[in-house]
Amino acid sequence: MKMSIQQLFRPDVLAMQAYHVADASGYIKLDAMENPYHLPAALRQELGQQLAEVALNRYPDPHGDGLKDLLKAAFAIPDAADVVLGNGSDEIITLITQAVASDDTVVLALEPSFVMYRLNAQFSRVRYVGVPLQADFSLDLPATLAAIREHRPAVVFLSYPNNPTGPRFAREEVQAVLDAAPGLLVVDEAYQAFADDSFMGLAGSQPHLIVMRTLSKLGLAGLRLGYAAGHPEVIAQLDKVRPPYNINVLSQAAAKFALRHLDVFAAQAAELRSERSRIAASLATLPQVTVYPSEANFLTIRVPDALALFAQLKAEGILIKNLHGYHPLLDNCLRLTVGSPDENSALLAAIHAYFA
Ligand SMILES: *Cc1c(COP(=O)(O)O)cnc(C)c1O
Repeated sequence: MKMSIQQLFRPDVLAMQAYHVADASGYIKLDAMENPYHLPAALRQELGQQLAEVALNRYPDPHGDGLKDLLKAAFAIPDAADVVLGNGSDEIITLITQAVASDDTVVLALEPSFVMYRLNAQFSRVRYVGVPLQADFSLDLPATLAAIREHRPAVVFLSYPNNPTGPRFAREEVQAVLDAAPGLLVVDEAYQAFADDSFMGLAGSQPHLIVMRTLSKLGLAGLRLGYAAGHPEVIAQLDKVRPPYNINVLSQAAAKFALRHLDVFAAQAAELRSERSRIAASLATLPQVTVYPSEANFLTIRVPDALALFAQLKAEGILIKNLHGYHPLLDNCLRLTVGSPDENSALLAAIHAYFA
């Protein structure tokens, strides 16, 4: 007798909803923290020529050593640190969780934050502890330290700045978490290009610290390239659970190309930061809107009726992210990805018209 689907798959998997990505065709797409810009035409042509030379018949360089050296130089990764590459930083979260998972392992994260921390804990069957942020989305240090003492997590995940809320936590408080955590602290710096601070300088010298980043929010979400820097002995363990050829040859070649043209992406990030200020200032003039400070390429806002505004923007062809219903602290919150100046102006016009 064949097993039925119900018999075959884990109850928690059967009960899950698949990760939902909205169909965005035809919309102004401000829902997924993507960089709005395609590569400039001249660079596209050069990239095309370089990719045409890539040996697709060969397996990729399993260690990505050339790419790691370029990443270390481009992003000031300390010499004391080693680097592991992931198929997006999503995969690095998976590697870290798998490498620590055993019967009594606990993974801890702040909430609301990036859902993959919790989902990976579930997939690896480790106990997950979520510690709520404060109402203004700052870190609740006493509650976090108490939870660390009580649960002794093998890993604490902390997004710096935090998605989906926007602010960066106080550096001293993150340092206090690092000092108190018995296990690893993963500082997820997915939004580093838009932020004013980083823990990268400590990578390698603080054995329990892993600093994780991605090229996605910088403008290369389609490449799927994440990286994490940490103490060589820690990175060596992650490397053992990494699928040997996780970064394909085209992604390795395209990432090397992009790192040689980092000035293009840095200029775009600078423009997005200044657009972020423009949107925040414009929305702050509306008494119905609370704008949370952000060091990412999105702004989280709270309005009287998030679903109504979300629906109105969608009807006008603008797709943003509804956060209402994800966590009690996100009641009536929406997340606006910073787009191109034209896209942002369309967004602002629609929101102002809605409240007029
Ligand atoms: C977007 C995001 C990631 C995932 O990035 P990828 O490299 O595209 O997988 C990781 N962490 C946070 C906090 C993010 O917002």
